[in-house]
Formats: sequence, structure tokens, C-alpha cells
Amino acid sequence: MAGFLGRHHLRLSQSTLLAAYDCVTGNDPRLALAVAERERAAEPVSLDWLVGFRRGEGVQDELAAVARLMERLERNLESFSQTTTQARTATTEYSAALRDQVDGLQQGGDAGAMLADVLAIARTMIERTHDIERHMVRSEQETRALHRSLEETRRHAELDHLTGLPNRRAFEHRLARELVAAQAEGDPLCVAFCDIDRFKRINDTHGHDAGDRVLRAVACALNEISDDRCHVARHGGEEFVVLFRGLPLDEAYDRLDETRDALAERRMVNRATDIPFGKVTFSAGIADVFEYPDSREALRAADEALYIAKKDGRNRIVRASAQVRLIAGPPKAA
Ligand code: GH3
Ligand code: MG
Ligand code: MG
Repeated sequence: MAGFLGRHHLRLSQSTLLAAYDCVTGNDPRLALAVAERERAAEPVSLDWLVGFRRGEGVQDELAAVARLMERLERNLESFSQTTTQARTATTEYSAALRDQVDGLQQGGDAGAMLADVLAIARTMIERTHDIERHMVRSEQETRALHRSLEETRRHAELDHLTGLPNRRAFEHRLARELVAAQAEGDPLCVAFCDIDRFKRINDTHGHDAGDRVLRAVACALNEISDDRCHVARHGGEEFVVLFRGLPLDEAYDRLDETRDALAERRMVNRATDIPFGKVTFSAGIADVFEYPDSREALRAADEALYIAKKDGRNRIVRASAQVRLIAGPPKAA
């Protein structure tokens, strides 16, 4: 394993050690194969590449879980449809048999023999109905279990596993819902992009695992302002997104700025080495969603404002100034 780390100039850390172990022991054959291919192509096996590959694998696992659920769902549907077909056939056969007996009686047939036939038919029907009921109960149980698994998978797929925050996909769903709600109620809606300042330096100086801990700490600080009208998500990398419903731009700005200020005041220490991280700060761009023709434009404006915040020296928030005034706006509250 030391050979693996040395060959790829990887620093010793929990994630590189795990990757080396998985590769050398064949514990993760896909990783071993991907590494071998990169070695053949003389491409570097860097920490960023390893992290990206692992993340991709996580996505593959989730996709495989969803595929398995879909298969179960299909089988369940098929069995359900077979049960209903059986029930329909049984009812049709039962009615036809009864009709024959009634016709026979009307034509003056042997009442005693016919009654015995009707009883036999009814008995068969009861047995078949029991069978069908048992199938139905099983299908129902399976459907309920599937439903729970689907919910679980959906929750899993919308969570960022490093920080525990909702991920970008969850944020996009949230944005769509909040947009509709804000429009309906005439609420203001603001969106902010936050990006940790000089984060690469933290990784380079303290290692990737320490970088992960800083990411979690920033996520936690941002998450403190979240409530049922303020939603924080990890948009990707060291970038977060915050959605404020019900606060005008200036108030949303102040709210986020307090968090920025409080974080900049803190002095975090790398608990693995006791070496201080120094000041950990973030920059942000914030936009009033309804000042733009659509939410995508608003997100772009917030991102551009973030870029200006970085250029102006970082550790600050910049308001996006809308070039385009809204034409078909929401019914804003008077
Ligand atoms: P700036 O102030 O301009 O934003 O500088 P920066 O260094 O933060 O920006 P840059 O985009 O150069 O680097 C971002 C770094 O964030 C690079 C990448 O390796 C790191 N990163 C992204 N995701 C993760 C993660 O999940 N964990 C860790 N530890 N690092 C990550
Ligand atoms: Mg960034
Ligand atoms: Mg950054």
C-alpha cells in the first residue's frame, strides 16, 4: 500500500489509505481496474481523481439500487395484474356455471342434483376467492415495503453524504416548489451562492480529510439559518446555495452576512494536528429571484455577483443588480 501511495505521490490520509487498500487487495475491483488503466495511459492518480471516482461509484450504487427497486416494482405489478385476471376469470366462470344451473332449473331439471351442483360451484368459488385474497394481501404488503424503500432511496439520492445537507438535486426540487409557493402568496424569494474562500489552500496545507471537516463546519454554520422558509444545500464542491422565502433582498443579505461575519470571527483548529486553519471565510452573491425572467437567470446573476465578491477581495456578499426588470411578475404583496 505504501508502494501505491508513493507511486502516485499521494499523501497518507484516511481516504488515500482506504483507496490503496481497496486497490491492492482487489476489494474494489472497479477502482483497481480504473487505476490500472490510468497507469497504462500514464495519467496521474491524484486525490481529486480518486474523490471523483468514489463519488461516481456512489452514484452507480444508487442507480443500481433504483434499478433493483424498479425490477421488484415490475414483478409486483405483474403479479398484481395476474391476480386480478384470475379474479376476473373466476367470477366469469362462476357466473356462467350458475347461469347454467338457473337455466336448467327453469327448464324443469332435477332440483336436488342441481342444488348439489350449485353448492359444489360455491365451494370452489370460496376456495378460489381465498387464494386470490391471500395473493392480494401479499401484494399489498410487498407494495407497502416497496413504497418505503422508494422513499428511502429518494431521501438518500437527495442528500449530500459529506455534510448531511440536501444536495443540488434536492435544491432544484426545493427551488421549483418555493417558486410556486412564493408566487402564489406574493412572497419575496432570494437566492445566494456561497463559496469557501481559498479552500484549495486548506486542502493543500492540511490535507483532504481536514478539508472535509472544514466543509462540514461551514455547512453546519450555514445550516443554522435554515428553517421552514430558508433552505441551505450543498451545490457541489465547496459551494453552497441558500434560498430565502419571505425576506426582501436586503433582509436576506443581512441574515447571510451575519453568518459570514460569525464564521470569519471563529478560529478553527485542525484537531488532528492542533494546527490552526486560520480564518475560514466564504464569499457570496445574492439575487432577488423575481427580478429576473426565470429562476435560471436569477441563479446566474447570483453566481456572477459571487464572482465579483471574489474579485473584490473575498469574505463578502455582493447583491446582484438586475439588468432585466421582470415583465410578467408575481403578484407582489402590497
Ligand atoms: P476561491 O476563493 O477562488 O474560491 O478559491 P478556492 O481555492 O476555494 O477555489 P478552487 O476552485 O481553486 O478550489 C476549490 C477546491 O475545493 C478544489 C477541490 O479539490 C476542493 N474540493 C471540492 N470538493 C471537495 C470535497 O468534497 N472535499 C475536499 N476536501 N475538497 C473539495
Ligand atoms: Mg468554487
Ligand atoms: Mg472556493
